[in-house]
Amino acid sequence: MANDLAAPNGRRIALIAHDNKKRDMLEWARYNLDLLTAHELFATATTGRLLQDHLGLEINCFRSGPFGGDQQIGARIAEGGIDLLVFFWDPLEPHPHDPDVKALLRVAVVCNIPVACNRATADFIISSHLMNRVHEPWDPAPERELDGLATKTTAQPA
Ligand code: PGA
Repeated sequence: MANDLAAPNGRRIALIAHDNKKRDMLEWARYNLDLLTAHELFATATTGRLLQDHLGLEINCFRSGPFGGDQQIGARIAEGGIDLLVFFWDPLEPHPHDPDVKALLRVAVVCNIPVACNRATADFIISSHLMNRVHEPWDPAPERELDGLATKTTAQPA
């Protein structure tokens, strides 16, 4: 939930695009360049380099997606270090790192951050007035009941 405080330093945005979607990402970022420069940007290596080279954006780059970059961004999300994920994944091609993609999308939902998987959604989110508001800090799920977990994992089939 957003509150009425202005966000002090912009939001922390992670940008990822699969190869068939990199053109989309570049065009989207070019269209929203003024908005994007107000935020702190992160990206997987190839996506980040593309945006740096073509648009001069300042970007903190992780490893390339297939080499662990998706997992690095997922970990950053789990730590509360990313406010928005723009992830143009390719729905028409299988990828060797599909498990990483699924894990990244999952952790983003668990941590309740906005996720844009196509240009239309990314446009809606980046232009939302909520981008300039402080989000309530992520409230981590309560510690799991270890007793309940132990019972579940040791239970014998009936
Ligand atoms: P890339 O990674 O930006 O290094 O291409 C994206 C991905 O495939 O997850």
